[in-house]
Amino acid sequence: ADAAMYSAKEKGKNMYEFYQNHLKEMNPKQLLLEADMRKAVKEKQFEIYYQPQINFATGKVFGVEALLRWNHPEEGLISPEDFIATAENNQLIIELGQWVLAESSKQVKIWQEAGHEKLHLSVNVSIKQFFHQNFIKNIEEIVKNTGYALNMLDLEITESMAIRDVEYAKDIFDKIRNLGISISMDDFGTGYSSLNHLKNFSIDRLKIDGSLVQDIATDEKARTIINTIIVMAKNLKLVSLAERVETVEQQDYLTAIGCNEVQGYLYAKPLNRNEMTKFLKENFNANLLKSSQMDYVP
Ligand code: C2E
Ligand code: MG
Ligand code: MG
Ligand code: MG
Repeated sequence: ADAAMYSAKEKGKNMYEFYQNHLKEMNPKQLLLEADMRKAVKEKQFEIYYQPQINFATGKVFGVEALLRWNHPEEGLISPEDFIATAENNQLIIELGQWVLAESSKQVKIWQEAGHEKLHLSVNVSIKQFFHQNFIKNIEEIVKNTGYALNMLDLEITESMAIRDVEYAKDIFDKIRNLGISISMDDFGTGYSSLNHLKNFSIDRLKIDGSLVQDIATDEKARTIINTIIVMAKNLKLVSLAERVETVEQQDYLTAIGCNEVQGYLYAKPLNRNEMTKFLKENFNANLLKSSQMDYVP
């Protein structure tokens, strides 16, 4: 009787899941967006923007993060927050992800050859890509085709992806790093606690989530958490990078507590290819840090 009950329950669950997926598939808005995105891939409406990453010690640009944009013919420039989730529902995200890696590595290679030899590239990885059986093979192949140096590539993976399957993540991280590619844990400090796992994961950098950075001036708890992350990063020999830095006050606090690197509107918004080319020409050897406003005691 137990077995029968169990299978009825399982069946119920499967039916429920089927119904849910079916509903998802039938959502007309979703379907429209999906169709639009397929067309967008064909018609090359996607574009990569690049946001400079700056080293606190030198004040100089050391890398760029590739950020996907969609130039929609009617809606204008659409941010990834509004279409990545839809792309994650089907195989589109795999195609898009591969395209981003191919295009951005080609582009950064051009900048390297133009005299910015040490410029690194950071690329965001989606959850579907991460768990795809050919994930590593695809990366190797793409980078080989573009002739980009593996040791100048960084992959951004969120902690929520990594803790979904810790054993798998450990294995993938090792494989990525064996290729010479570095790993940044993106959106670090947001809700998931992978502190336990950090010691097992071989990664290179923690990217402190912008939501924490935003609250530096107003929230003592946010400051405490950031402080703790930076101390921990140091002890684990990981690089710390703060995202979404918008004010000199935030910059000053982060430098005072020993954060290593930074990204944010304070220095540069994500720039399109031409804007980035110009930015590099004008700023590659400049110290981009803003002059300090106050003396912080951490
Ligand atoms: P993320 O990887 O955490 O990227 C940082 C986001 O913060 C970017 O948003 C960037 O434009 C924004 N940002 C940078 N500096 C500032 C600042 O000073 N203030 C504020 N308010 N925002 C700032 P974006 O470009 O809209 O991307 C959002 C998310 O979409 C990314 O978060 C990433 O998770 C995802 N994404 C972007 N491009 C790709 C991609 O090629 N593939 C995948 N799988 N995901 C992507
Ligand atoms: Mg990122
Ligand atoms: Mg992030
Ligand atoms: Mg994010």
